[in-house]
Amino acid sequence: MDEYIREGARKNSALIRKMQGQPEAHATAEAKGGSHQQEVRAHQHHILKCWPEYFEAIGQGRKTFEVRENDRNYQEGDSLELREFEPCKRCDGSGRMWDCGDKMECVQCGPSHGEYTMRWLFCKVSYVMKGGSFGVSPRHVVMGIKLPANHQWPIAVCPNGEVSDPRRA
Ligand SMILES: [Zn+2]
Repeated sequence: MDEYIREGARKNSALIRKMQGQPEAHATAEAKGGSHQQEVRAHQHHILKCWPEYFEAIGQGRKTFEVRENDRNYQEGDSLELREFEPCKRCDGSGRMWDCGDKMECVQCGPSHGEYTMRWLFCKVSYVMKGGSFGVSPRHVVMGIKLPANHQWPIAVCPNGEVSDPRRA
């Protein structure tokens, strides 16, 4: 039994040392410009297209997460500006459509493959789970998102198409 307790205590103290040592190791990696460097960069603002179905769910406060391709190095504390975007009905926003068994350039839409509705939402990234586990592809990221305290729904759209947002007034 004593041996068991000693072994437990040894493991615990090793764990405590490891935990205490972590900030130091982290700082060293940053100083060397290692892989942790990108975690201390200033918070960024990302402007993203958001399809109506998801825009509604986020605005209503039901959808509190975002799954995105991680091509922007999303970090906790970043802000997202989600611009509602109605994709072209023919090509579903891809710019390519099936025609007689071939995938052709969509003739219905312009270079943006859809239209902005002039509504947008702001939110903060409250958590980032990088892909590579739990069935999330390594190229993707799952983010927890939080609406601002002054969020109102439905969003008021001004007659000129501008979104009424107190931070832009
Ligand atoms: Zn199209």
